[in-house]
Amino acid sequence: MNALASIERPADTNPGRLRGFVTALADLIASTRDERSLLESGRALLGRLIAKDDWLPPEYARPHPDRYQQYLLHCDSRERFSVVSFVWGPGQSTPVHDHGVWGLVGILRGSEKVERFSRLPTGGLVPEGEALLREGEVDAVSPRIGDIHRVSNGRDDAPSVSIHVYGGNIGAVQRTIYVPNGKPKPFISGYASNVLPNLWDRSKEL
Ligand code: FE
Repeated sequence: MNALASIERPADTNPGRLRGFVTALADLIASTRDERSLLESGRALLGRLIAKDDWLPPEYARPHPDRYQQYLLHCDSRERFSVVSFVWGPGQSTPVHDHGVWGLVGILRGSEKVERFSRLPTGGLVPEGEALLREGEVDAVSPRIGDIHRVSNGRDDAPSVSIHVYGGNIGAVQRTIYVPNGKPKPFISGYASNVLPNLWDRSKEL
């Protein structure tokens, strides 16, 4: 099998699961300004979302042969949060980057290697260890708890898919890429696609 063939699930997905998640997250964000409790409760919500793999439409799990993909699944109307599916082909990884906002990363399919860094006041990067996140696991980032990392596909023979939630419209946030022995580079990631899944057609459920 072509290693880059998408690992698609049946077309009959359950959009209600993602709709329930974004509704619960909006309620959570309205209920607290404390990042610690937001990440704790958000982690539980995201853990429940990725525990069942029956809701992500196949077109948002499609790898690209050359680069990882980030598909916007939902953005809050006030840009308080966004939900993105990341799809990694074998051997694909991000540059070392920051986020500037809180983020939660949950593995839906496969695994991801995370390498964490901190930044010295002089600007140098210090490795802070790495982890392999497996299906069902959730990781967190934020300027408060550690915001700089590189993420790669944890599998070398198949795509991996993770669901990320951020405390802003992440594709439009001013961020930084760190290159070895180079100057930090400002970047704005954007998204891989300009269409979003329709979570709101509830006619079949009524
Ligand atoms: Fe990241």
